[in-house]
Amino acid sequence: MNAIGVDVGGTKIAAGVVTPQGEILKEARYPTPTSSGRLVASIARAVAEVRDGFEVGGVCLAVPGLILAQENKVVFSPNLHAVEGVPLKKELEPRIGLPLTIENDGNAAAWGEFRFGAGREVDHLVFVTLGTGIGGGVITHGILMRGAQGSGGELGHVTVHATGPRCACGNHGCLEALASGTAIGRRGREVASERPASALGRLAVERKVLGEDVTELAQKGDEAALSVLEETGTWLGIGLAGFVNVFNPEVVAIGGGVAKAGELILEAARREVHLRARPPSRDLAEIKVASLGPESGVLGAAALARDPSSGEYLLGS
Ligand SMILES: [Zn+2]
Repeated sequence: MNAIGVDVGGTKIAAGVVTPQGEILKEARYPTPTSSGRLVASIARAVAEVRDGFEVGGVCLAVPGLILAQENKVVFSPNLHAVEGVPLKKELEPRIGLPLTIENDGNAAAWGEFRFGAGREVDHLVFVTLGTGIGGGVITHGILMRGAQGSGGELGHVTVHATGPRCACGNHGCLEALASGTAIGRRGREVASERPASALGRLAVERKVLGEDVTELAQKGDEAALSVLEETGTWLGIGLAGFVNVFNPEVVAIGGGVAKAGELILEAARREVHLRARPPSRDLAEIKVASLGPESGVLGAAALARDPSSGEYLLGS
């Protein structure tokens, strides 16, 4: 049966009716409100809009932040405070009239790639999404690894540099603080001031350099921008080497906006994994760009709505 996946992001809410085969039948997008009351109302509206005319068995919300699965609640969400502490299941189920669960957005996107994308041929997948922050998820033996409370799989917050830059989570030197789009922008601005004659340096005179600017200039061959991505890929690889050693995945899929830099980041990341991870895990893991793009959250959440516990379809296919 169809299910609805809702990706609740920092700037927009995307809801979609999804078939068991991963086809999105109808989709709706709304801006994310900043108050809790309006956030709940907008999610309900998005679900009602896409549900119209379709037979649907359940809904899963993919939300940013640390969740307590048993309470269906987000306890900490630095990029979306409006969702913190809101009893989403209790508030939304009566309005929607369908069973509802919540899942961390990185976990949901990982599940999307596992069911329908870069991990569909394998049972062991590590998915890392590089955007404003870094999220991700781990699937092992075909099961989504959530940990004891549902807040596991926070791949962006492993420490890779003990005295590194401060992270949004409060720690120093998290992978997120060194390899996210935000980190690329910060490093890009530093390198721009060190190398004023580079294209990166010239852009910095005109306006604030962002992560996507660095990628764009690197793709045009600017050495300064290329060096920032090389450095980013090295940090990413240090993180991935740890994941490869711990989880022994068949595929490591890299998603999110930063993945557009492709080989400009992945080459350095693979080199680092080769240096730091151990065989046989190191030799098995295929590190590649994820295949679903921004739809992975909606697709994964919808698939999880069918069975939030083990990932197998409960509602029939
Ligand atoms: Zn952190």
